[in-house]
Amino acid sequence: MVDGHDSADMADVRLQAIKGCVMGVSDSIVEVVCVNCGQVNRVPTDRPANKATCGRCGAILFGREPVQIDDAGLTKQIERSDFPLVIDFWAEWCGPCRAMAPAYAQAAVRLATKAHFLKVEVDSNPMWAGKLGVRGIPALFVIHRGKVVAQRSGALDSSSIEKWVRSSLDVS
Ligand SMILES: [Zn+2]
Repeated sequence: MVDGHDSADMADVRLQAIKGCVMGVSDSIVEVVCVNCGQVNRVPTDRPANKATCGRCGAILFGREPVQIDDAGLTKQIERSDFPLVIDFWAEWCGPCRAMAPAYAQAAVRLATKAHFLKVEVDSNPMWAGKLGVRGIPALFVIHRGKVVAQRSGALDSSSIEKWVRSSLDVS
């Protein structure tokens, strides 16, 4: 699914890549919320994206896999992150959700420096799904700086997810 070429490329990707879509705290600093511990990290944009780690727990800030997050964690991401969020609302019993999971993971790899790919299991975490008016799952949202930039429901393949996220965030 992930070829070697992709991982090698990652080393050269710098946070400047995301400057186009984040009007950060300043031109040279963006705030990124650690998906592991919730710490808000101020990250210089000239640092290689793959080297950025959380100041509290040491987790990699720009992970390449979708991260399961709960309602509380999502609140913090939505309130504090300068970095765009892609959220997949899903449930264990939902066949299309499970079917889409590999495609979503693949899109997360390709867009690792553009957005955080998160997953919220709606049975244990109904709050944000309710607030955002999710009626059917899988439901995908792009949220940036507290605002819903785009939303859609129904399973997609990975290139459709990627294309949709890129156009939502206006990144090439
Ligand atoms: Zn952390």
